[in-house]
Amino acid sequence: MIKDISDLKAKLEHILISNQGCFKSGKVANYIPALAEVPGDLAGVAVATIDGKLVSAGNGDLPFSIQSISKVFGLVLAMNRLGDELWQRVHMEPSGQPFNSIIQLEWEKGIPRNPVINAGALLVSDVLVSHYSASKLSFVNFMRTLANDDSIHIDHAVYESELEHGSRNAALAYLMKSFGNIEAPIPEVLSHYFTQCSVAMSCEQLARSLLFLANKGKDPINNQTICSRKDTHRVNAILSTSGMYDQSGEFAFSVGLPAKSGVGGGIVAIVPNYGVICAWSPPLNEFGNSVVGMKVVANIAEELGLSIY
Ligand code: GLN
Repeated sequence: MIKDISDLKAKLEHILISNQGCFKSGKVANYIPALAEVPGDLAGVAVATIDGKLVSAGNGDLPFSIQSISKVFGLVLAMNRLGDELWQRVHMEPSGQPFNSIIQLEWEKGIPRNPVINAGALLVSDVLVSHYSASKLSFVNFMRTLANDDSIHIDHAVYESELEHGSRNAALAYLMKSFGNIEAPIPEVLSHYFTQCSVAMSCEQLARSLLFLANKGKDPINNQTICSRKDTHRVNAILSTSGMYDQSGEFAFSVGLPAKSGVGGGIVAIVPNYGVICAWSPPLNEFGNSVVGMKVVANIAEELGLSIY
């Protein structure tokens, strides 16, 4: 594990520049039309450490659509509210299917394989809608507190675009409702889910906001407990096995860090007892993971000798 990060900025710049050209082999998500408008050649990276350092390179300070990275934060809020009861309604196994697959949900009687595929995140959204009087506001406020930045906001163009093109997510939610696993009205569940996906944050803000997962549940900067030690272990375990969707095995094999991707092109990776890496570049591979982001995180982990295995 690295002790001295004085030359980290130069390392991040070098890693970013040497991988940036790979964006051409990916494709910016276009099933949510607003995401397709983001230039494919943008790229950023940030590393936050539990001892309070924050280093970034490229477009590391530019907000982007966090998309499925929001599933991590939603899960933490739902675990805090519902406790162990949550695991009766969503499981913790890798799905081996694309993140928005419907097939498995029917076989498995409306119980999602894990909370970081879309079905699982919709289930979590139902928990939040049912247990908070204003779940969307609570979610955004949670992000603002964790990032220590009140300017964090929802990108309304992305929200509207998701709502308009959200038939598959609606299908997942209605299927779960038919099995009795969704309590709130579906439009409210979808509205919450699309809201949390539409939050815009930079690599710097995301890296800062997830430090608690690298620090046994405690925000190391202000010493505030965000979730229990046990739940921190559980979230990191789920991110290790399922956070990169159907490429989680390969990511564990080649990098070895709990991580979560989003179709906005962001990837966060948790380094327990050290900090958080966040990389962003919009073009995606066939699994919905950022092409450049994967390489950048892998290179940083290798360069700094960071792996949980
Ligand atoms: N909002 C996206 C969706 O529901 C999130 C998917 C993702 O980032 N992998 O399809």
